[in-house]
Amino acid sequence: MKVGFAGWRGMVGSVLMERMASERDFELFSSRFFSTSNRGAAAPAVPGGEARLHDAHDVSALGDCDAIVSCQGGDYTAAIHPQLRAAGWGGIWIDAASSLRMNEDAVIVLDPVNLDVIQAGLARGVRNYIGANCTVSLMLMAIHGLLKAGLVQWVSAMTYQAASGAGAQHMRELLLQMAYLSDAVRDRLADEGSAILEIDRAISQALRSDKLPREHLETALAGNLIAWIDRDLGQGVSREEWKAGAEANKILGRPAMGQPGSIIVEGICVRVGAMRCHSQGLTIKLSQDVPLAEVESLVAGANRWVQVVPNRRDETIRMLAPAQVAGRLQIPVGRLRKLAIGGEYLSAFTVGDQLLWGAAEPLRRMLRILFDRRN
Ligand code: NAP
Repeated sequence: MKVGFAGWRGMVGSVLMERMASERDFELFSSRFFSTSNRGAAAPAVPGGEARLHDAHDVSALGDCDAIVSCQGGDYTAAIHPQLRAAGWGGIWIDAASSLRMNEDAVIVLDPVNLDVIQAGLARGVRNYIGANCTVSLMLMAIHGLLKAGLVQWVSAMTYQAASGAGAQHMRELLLQMAYLSDAVRDRLADEGSAILEIDRAISQALRSDKLPREHLETALAGNLIAWIDRDLGQGVSREEWKAGAEANKILGRPAMGQPGSIIVEGICVRVGAMRCHSQGLTIKLSQDVPLAEVESLVAGANRWVQVVPNRRDETIRMLAPAQVAGRLQIPVGRLRKLAIGGEYLSAFTVGDQLLWGAAEPLRRMLRILFDRRN
């Protein structure tokens, strides 16, 4: 099997490369690497890898691969995927971008939750396997046990999404903004006697200044938040918010949101100044009043990555924070309690590395599923 990789040096691609190297996935097939910006340069050194980068727009070099994994982004997928299929390419397309997710001829992959849907797709000849939106994957992994038990009627998810969710350039710009802000008050901070309101005023001014780096983020994210992610779909809904309900039901193999048998997933998606990891405050309407101890045991037992954090101050601060979870496959879920609204209303807070389970890991595991099926 020959696998082509496009977008391997971006945020998702770099994490995918690291995970594949540590799981020794590259030893299973030969690899060809593509670039939109550096054709002919040295390719990453992996076992069974070709030495030079190919042009990511070269349909014939792409078409020579049995499977292609793209972490290059939606515009690339929209431009290249139809050309490849039109040229008669029958290989498996595995993608982190959203462009093809909701197409009828695509399966959304999150195998701990929907291996049955993936296997059914392979059996009926589906050739497009797409990673889900990061917050959707992380939420489904976190409440997998409640979903399996058929206990979830609806979910409201208030998200706190990291800068890296928007890509490498946004992460760099967040750091540049932090540096700009701290430069604006460096002298006042060094002087322990300086008035805090003066510091606050200088920071407010810097946050609104034209000189604050904002080429990618559009506005301040350091010392601020952005209550809108992705495109405006009209009627007050962002595309990121729409994805939650649409993708969650597709992943679970259920009817579209709003149809009988679907679950409702609603919420507001917010970008915050975390570097990595998406957090979500969930309100869940259970279909029946199940004791909290049973809820905890269902959540904890669903898959080997979910981890219930006791709903106490010290454990929450220590374990339920992006800085602790970054780079780890574990998905902690805490703040579990019944709300005053009634015994069927549950609160939860979950944090997950959106570059691992939210992006790279389901793609890496899809390649393994494919390899196992072919051998
Ligand atoms: P990204 O970091 O912006 O990388 C995309 C491409 O940008 C790279 O492959 C690279 O292409 C080019 N690039 C330009 N300047 C770069 C630099 N300084 N460092 C690295 N690469 C640079 O995008 P991404 O966040 O990985 O997202 C890829 C896709 O995955 C998108 O469709 C996104 O929506 C989706 N996704 C992202 C996340 C996330 O948490 N970031 C989660 C789930 C899904 P060349 O090498 O060809 O120049």
